[in-house]
Amino acid sequence: MFEFLRPDLAQLHAYTPQPGGAVTVALDHLDANENPYDLPAALKEKLAWHYQQALHTHRYPDGSHAALKTAIAHYVSEAAGLATAVTPAQISVGNGSDELIRSLLFATCLNGRGAILVAAPTFSMYAILAQTLGIAVKTIGRHETDWQMDLTAAAQAIAQSQPPVRAVFVVHPNSPTGNALSATEIDWLRALPPEILVVIDEAYYEFSQQTLLAELAERPNWVITRTFSKAFRLAAHRVGYAIAHPDLAAALEKVRLPYNLPSFSQAAALLALEQRQALLAVVPEILGERDRLYTALSALPRLRVWSSQSNFLYARLADAADGDHLTLMQTLKARGTLIRATGGGLRLTIGTPAENERMVARLQAVL
Ligand SMILES: *Cc1c(COP(=O)(O)O)cnc(C)c1O
Repeated sequence: MFEFLRPDLAQLHAYTPQPGGAVTVALDHLDANENPYDLPAALKEKLAWHYQQALHTHRYPDGSHAALKTAIAHYVSEAAGLATAVTPAQISVGNGSDELIRSLLFATCLNGRGAILVAAPTFSMYAILAQTLGIAVKTIGRHETDWQMDLTAAAQAIAQSQPPVRAVFVVHPNSPTGNALSATEIDWLRALPPEILVVIDEAYYEFSQQTLLAELAERPNWVITRTFSKAFRLAAHRVGYAIAHPDLAAALEKVRLPYNLPSFSQAAALLALEQRQALLAVVPEILGERDRLYTALSALPRLRVWSSQSNFLYARLADAADGDHLTLMQTLKARGTLIRATGGGLRLTIGTPAENERMVARLQAVL
């Protein structure tokens, strides 16, 4: 190991979305919670036209993201039916919401100033990014019946943590377990003191239609993050955003890289917002497929499935031993369906009807 490297990096692993060897069959990608549908050809042509006619590759992108912030502020306000609209000054745009998570960590916990709190199982990037920055992660559990957070353990962790907990990360609805925040959990978030930042990750908002945005104006220590990677079909373009108090948004602007979002990605996100009705028209079909899959998978032997507010389902094998979920994931991969083993279970993304059909048949065959 090099002397110039931080020794704690030796314990970390690079993020590999799909562990395992080479695959020979064509795969159904039901492992990353993407929208199963590509951007429609007509919209790709529009983007191609933009690239040819309007985009100057020798110029830096608009580092202020002015047009995109305006469009996002309009979209989020309209979708939530807000009486007082969100302003562009409340938005910060990131290279994926992953970048925003890291910016939030920069802005709150760096230099030994704070720890973060997460409730496992949840989105892994909070802990992964915190660890790369040497930030302590306090992990509490969830109740396995409905995946609500163990709030007693949370209160205890906050009371005892040294350095103090500066940020609590929740997903609404949670990944991988699919449950939205309950009334009790939301009350708990409301009661957190102003010196703790509450990060509400609404990556799946367009599927769940649940948001805490209406309350953001009264809660300056809350921030909502969202993404274009899921329902909006733009995972390839890496666009995410945060909605926050203008002072918090300004802090996020300070710590990010100056040209963090390529021009082409900004153009794609703007187009997606402009064409949102067409792009989001597939959401009801995906939700219908989710409910159909829930029923089909619940009928399989050995598999326990939880209901979901999003575009994925979470399942566990009954009496699973260590490694069983990983083995099942690999078995399914060999048959052509990629799913994700995570959080002590399996996360199954809802795909096209044909992909879902194949997933059920393959699971049926192996269980
Ligand atoms: C997929 C996902 C994101 C999106 O991350 P991007 O970097 O915007 O692609 C964020 N949070 C959660 C919980 C997710 O599942």
